[in-house]
Amino acid sequence: MSQWPIGVFTSVDAGLGVHLEVVQELKIPTVQIHAPHQQTRTAAHAEAFLGKCADAGITITAVFGGFEGESYASIAETARTVGLVPQATRAARTQEMKEISDFTKLLGCDVVALHIGFVPEDRAGEDYRSLINCTQDLLDHVAANGQNLHLETGQETADHLLEFIADVGRDNLFINFDPANMILYGTGEPIAALRQVAKYVRSVHCKDGTWAKENRGVAWGAEVPLGDGDVGMENYLRTLHEIGYTGPLTIEREIPHDPVRQKADIGHAVRLLESLKSKILG
Ligand code: MG
Repeated sequence: MSQWPIGVFTSVDAGLGVHLEVVQELKIPTVQIHAPHQQTRTAAHAEAFLGKCADAGITITAVFGGFEGESYASIAETARTVGLVPQATRAARTQEMKEISDFTKLLGCDVVALHIGFVPEDRAGEDYRSLINCTQDLLDHVAANGQNLHLETGQETADHLLEFIADVGRDNLFINFDPANMILYGTGEPIAALRQVAKYVRSVHCKDGTWAKENRGVAWGAEVPLGDGDVGMENYLRTLHEIGYTGPLTIEREIPHDPVRQKADIGHAVRLLESLKSKILG
């Protein structure tokens, strides 16, 4: 694959991505997909989806786990409901994530990813220790499928993410870097964070956002079309180049309630990234 192939975050029947038809129409060569609902995670569906991708010349670069009951309605709701962190659903979701890893293998893809949730702050606490154990257990399953797991950024600072990865201590745990999330969640300046976690970055999102006007970290920032936010896309791509990242540039535009605008914004993002790519890579 050539350096920095354009990609887009895609949904089959769950999640906030665009549908494959849009990807095909915009001639985008790679996709990350949000894992479909459990009843769709079958060998027959995997084969059908792979067939569609092959016909359209699309490569699947990662499969993102997501779970029933997750809500991004506010930062507090996100902390309460998202990922493997919430205690009440942790065991069931860890099991489901293993099933998503198995489905990902059927798709011939060696990367699974997820928002693990708000990693507890206290590294000595029981909650943190048990999250480490369950992440190790998941990573061993993922490794047996020949895969790596990428953690989506944003819900913790770069410092704490590095501590967590070190404490987990497995060699198949990496990062899907999302610069806009650092802004939306108010967890840190994205370019500095990218430099800090650089050695673990194996996939990225191209998404933009503006900082919350007040109460950063409590109130959401706003997700906006690529290039219109506070990330600074040229600086972001230049930094990716500087740290030696050559993988896909996967566009995310999380407005599935407005598919017309979503498609238009993704088309715009493709053109912006293509022009920055030729400027930076020559
Ligand atoms: Mg993202």
